[in-house]
Amino acid sequence: MRTLLLVLLLLPITINAQQLSIDAMIERDMASMLSTYKMLHAAPELSHREEKTASFFAGELRKLGYTVTERIGKFDNAEWTGYGVVAVMKNGTGPTVLVRTELDALPVDEKTGLPYASKVRTKNDAGVEVSVMHACGHDIHMTSLLGTAKVLSELKSQWQGTLVLLAQPSEETGDGARALLRDNLYTRFPQPDFAIALHDKPELEAGKVGYTPGYAMASATSIDIKIRGIGGHGSAPETTKDPIVVASQVVLALQTIVSRENSPLDPAVVTVGSIHGGTRYNIIPDEANLQLTVRTYKEDVRKRILASIERIVKGTAMAAGIPEDRAPIVKVSEGTTSTYNDPKLLERLTPALSRALGEENVVKMPPMMASEDFGYLSLDQKIPATIIWLGASDPQKVKQSRETGVALPGLHSALFAPVPEPTLRTGVKATTATVLELMKK
Ligand SMILES: [Zn+2]
Ligand SMILES: [Zn+2]
Repeated sequence: MRTLLLVLLLLPITINAQQLSIDAMIERDMASMLSTYKMLHAAPELSHREEKTASFFAGELRKLGYTVTERIGKFDNAEWTGYGVVAVMKNGTGPTVLVRTELDALPVDEKTGLPYASKVRTKNDAGVEVSVMHACGHDIHMTSLLGTAKVLSELKSQWQGTLVLLAQPSEETGDGARALLRDNLYTRFPQPDFAIALHDKPELEAGKVGYTPGYAMASATSIDIKIRGIGGHGSAPETTKDPIVVASQVVLALQTIVSRENSPLDPAVVTVGSIHGGTRYNIIPDEANLQLTVRTYKEDVRKRILASIERIVKGTAMAAGIPEDRAPIVKVSEGTTSTYNDPKLLERLTPALSRALGEENVVKMPPMMASEDFGYLSLDQKIPATIIWLGASDPQKVKQSRETGVALPGLHSALFAPVPEPTLRTGVKATTATVLELMKK
């Protein structure tokens, strides 16, 4: 009984000592992490061309003793190189845990005015010159993962198993994770028992992390609709089949899919984001073109909505008397799958995160209809996986924004400026705590 008491008394001290030592390591590395972050921030690269970023990332992990493989990923477009990086550290028998970061930046003209703001301009996939910015914080994720990689390489006595660090290309274009799997990610490298990713969240205070059990982000599907009519003079509609009127009817009819055909308990969005047709006042054109995005959590809901769109578009054209051989063309492009955060995995991780960061700094957050392609890495939810939100904004500004209702610059904004030091500190602490929880001895 006395021994038990002694153990119980000593226990918090041991945990504190270990916590202190991880904290001390992070403080020791902070200056170098900040300079890595600023360097990455000032040198962003677009999706499908993350060559220098990937090679820097690979080099750093090699220095830390990881077994690193570069240039992973096969895209549909054979001209694009997959710049994926996998770094493996084997440390005895135990679970395989994958932690993912992204490599790519966005075609955004940075307006933060920060001393390390990006001034990079480059050509995009279409050959058009654009500015480039890490407006989604992938530079934070990379730096945080490098910091975590260092801490874990020094704490090998505290974990066992196989640690797989993955730097994914082309998250913003939604095709990076699939390119990795097409390049046999999970046969060339150990298939994980758990997959983790961090993503920064401007609406959450730096120092905090957030979690969303279950569906957290939606699938995204892009659809191109070509409505073909029969063109003619604007003064003689009786000799034409006007595709602009049909397109207008289609846009309104599409609104009934979510409001009338879909269960209100299944979140879904159908947005027409682009409508183009015609060239001038008095010409009824031959065609009108629409571009849509569809968001859902569940795959069966997505399939039903796609079928409804096709039915409504074809039916509306038929009702307008457009002949069969001029029927609309509906082209569905593969987007991204939804993000499902395994609730059981989160039940295990949140206490560990609370111990590392303090209970008040681990908050539950609502799901959203934005999307990302991390879900593919869970192989349709076969591998327990979760994204953890990483607070990235000055707590004072978050408070102000909640009081005034004026949103802070969000992800993909030219003004998005995470506060690097507390965000990186929390990123490394949270990722280290997560990996140690899953791989502890
Ligand atoms: Zn993004
Ligand atoms: Zn992102």
